[in-house]
Amino acid sequence: MRPVTVGTKGVDAYARLVGEEKIDEIRRLAEPLRGARVLHVNATAYGGGVAEILSNLVPLMNDVGLEALWYVLDARDPTFFDVTKRIHNALQGMPLDLSDQMRELFLETDRANAAQLPDVDFVIAHDPQAIALRHFASASEASWAWRCHIDLTDAYTPVWSFLRPYVEAHDAAIFTMPQFAQPDLTLDRIVFSAPSIDPFTEKNGPLAADEARAIVAAFRLDPARPLLVQVSRFDPWKDPNGVIDVYRRVKAEIPEVQLALIGSLADDDPEGKDFLARSIAHAAGDPDVRCLTDLDGVRDREVNAFQRSATVVIQKSLREGFGLVVAEALWKGIPVVGGAVGGIPLQIVDGETGYLVRTVEECAERCLRLLRDADLRSRMGAAGHERVRGEFLITRDLRDHLRLFSDLRAAKGAVGGTRARVG
Ligand code: UDP
Repeated sequence: MRPVTVGTKGVDAYARLVGEEKIDEIRRLAEPLRGARVLHVNATAYGGGVAEILSNLVPLMNDVGLEALWYVLDARDPTFFDVTKRIHNALQGMPLDLSDQMRELFLETDRANAAQLPDVDFVIAHDPQAIALRHFASASEASWAWRCHIDLTDAYTPVWSFLRPYVEAHDAAIFTMPQFAQPDLTLDRIVFSAPSIDPFTEKNGPLAADEARAIVAAFRLDPARPLLVQVSRFDPWKDPNGVIDVYRRVKAEIPEVQLALIGSLADDDPEGKDFLARSIAHAAGDPDVRCLTDLDGVRDREVNAFQRSATVVIQKSLREGFGLVVAEALWKGIPVVGGAVGGIPLQIVDGETGYLVRTVEECAERCLRLLRDADLRSRMGAAGHERVRGEFLITRDLRDHLRLFSDLRAAKGAVGGTRARVG
């Protein structure tokens, strides 16, 4: 396992956005947990929603008096990530014949990582990649939670059946919403807590409109013309090619429209390059379509600029865990047209903060409606900002973790008594 270095943050700064009471509640919950050691483990330090959350949550946990660590799994055999991506896809419903060799590689990586676990009180293992750590850390007296960021509603049964006992080795499981949990999961503590965004990061913090437009213009898009934006890994579940089809329908009615598909190539997503190439091919050289990644210099500030400069943000996912990008756009006051899947309907109240869609045609129709009506855009954008402020800021995520740690500790006895070397 490799430690990830994080910055520092102060929770008090959030009071002006969420109110003093919410910060007081966090401080109250954190006080009895002072000094508790918390370890988050996931697959990658960069790219995707989990890395985004941990880079914000871990510093805030430290600020309120916990000793929080973030480790990423070390995969000596890089095909581990091919296997875990396929498992991820299977958990979203894609059939998969998980061979003995794949199972072995998967489990062996978690076994080797479990042997390196540090001495902590609480471990949060994120997503399927880290699912078997708890099983292999058999001597651990820490309290363990598995946080699942995936919608398991349509999970491919044979793969879920293989994974379920590893989940059940934990003290708790955290799902984004009740619908995501499989009904056959038996665990004393199943909690629901949605992901969150940090309003003070380079990605979500204030950025002057002029500056945002200049950044977008540097990527050869015209900030004076309407712009559709989707920010997502290049992945079939995010349907980037469907977004290009939406754009074409919109373009037939509003010829000046442009499209930016922004997608980072995450370390744990080996399919990304291939799907990027497919989207570039699907765009067929259209000069008003840009497919851009971190390799083109699109980092947090640029994502911020694209989201702010969008006339409409699209998130046309076919399956989705939560879709942090929806919250990011809504926070910036931009209405989002999103697939009615996973955690997107938690964020998009249809007709209030954006529109929920199921097809290319519907998506194009809703985008056209928004592109033609600036008042509607600003009404929905303002409602979206408020929804994120109330439900999806990082302080709520922090509070939920603190509550869980208190519950787990109460179930187990005092923290001093639970600390033990694990692995
Ligand atoms: N992201 C980014 N650059 C990109 C594409 C995505 O920084 O080019 C970020 C995005 O802003 C969000 C996260 O990666 O914070 C994606 O999280 P989400 O929950 O939407 O999807 P996931 O990739 O976890 O399925």
